[in-house]
Amino acid sequence: MPDTHEIRVLPPGLKNQIAAGEVVERPSSVVKELVENSLDAGATRVDVTVEQGGRGLIVVQDNGRGIAAAQLELAVTRHATSKLRTFEDLSAIASFGFRGEALPSIASVSRFTMISREQGAADAAFIEVRGGEVAGRRIAALAAGTRVEVRELFANTPARLKFLKAESTENKRCQDTLMRIALAHPGCGFSLTVNGREVFRLPADQDLATRLRTFWPPSACEGLGPFDFERLGYRAHGVAGSPAMAQSRGDRILLYVNGRPVQDKLMLGAVRQAYKGMLLSREYPQAVLFLELPRDEVDVNVHPAKLEVRFIEESRVFSTIRGGIVQALAVLTDQGRGYLGP
Ligand code: ADP
Ligand code: MG
Repeated sequence: MPDTHEIRVLPPGLKNQIAAGEVVERPSSVVKELVENSLDAGATRVDVTVEQGGRGLIVVQDNGRGIAAAQLELAVTRHATSKLRTFEDLSAIASFGFRGEALPSIASVSRFTMISREQGAADAAFIEVRGGEVAGRRIAALAAGTRVEVRELFANTPARLKFLKAESTENKRCQDTLMRIALAHPGCGFSLTVNGREVFRLPADQDLATRLRTFWPPSACEGLGPFDFERLGYRAHGVAGSPAMAQSRGDRILLYVNGRPVQDKLMLGAVRQAYKGMLLSREYPQAVLFLELPRDEVDVNVHPAKLEVRFIEESRVFSTIRGGIVQALAVLTDQGRGYLGP
């Protein structure tokens, strides 16, 4: 406790570190924020490198539109964003980012460098931030786009460091995070390299089924049926697995809302409802489900890491999802696959 009771405004570095507590929970959160920035910048190619579970190094390089040299410092300033201008915008967020918090938060708990070349610019610019303070800037070389490097993550926040799991677990989380994003952006190419080894390389313009085959074992991909169901302006599309392929863990139910990976009980409940009577109580189906709905009928502003959402029309969400999965199950039945036998 300070020695006086005088009220003071916190210095910016400390504010960013506090914000980082919410936005940057672990290395995979850094991967998520940086890759989402790349997609917001219109990238069609995103390459990610992770070393030592992300504590050693995280690199995200893209071929997006880049940042003007004169704006580089603003990009690492809190609440500075190119994606949100007015209060009205907040009710219809089209980009992943909007808070202008990710880069300054990450930079406050790491040694952070960014090189970016704005489309059409002759040079790229480089900035380095250490513990939240700009430690260097100069002109640099980069073919196109943006490259962010994050080192010594959480070195200055020992409490956060202690919460990290084993290196292999953190690597896996980074991999899962990138996989989930990659499934929602088949038009963009992605690669992941962990400790110098290429884990996957996905060319641009693949379809969902092709991408899934990179991530899931062949047995899990066999009994999948596609669905695309629309009702009252809500659309659920994706693939769902036959009940015969059910497994004891729910880790192959991947849910998205307007392209964002989410965790949501209501959506999960709707998926399970569609399988009612076909699964045992501890069995989970496999599904990749994209829900698309009008942007002003979902609030993505509930949580800084934005995994949680809030719906205005919950029953419409429920029935659209259930309708989609039921459609997939009908397809599987027609094909004589899945729960009617292989
Ligand atoms: P937000 O994404 O919420 O706007 P960030 O802190 O993640 O906040 O990024 C701040 C700003 O920096 C963005 O609004 C964007 O203009 C710019 N930016 C960040 N990453 C990239 C990138 N990879 N390519 C182009 N611009 C970027
Ligand atoms: Mg962002």
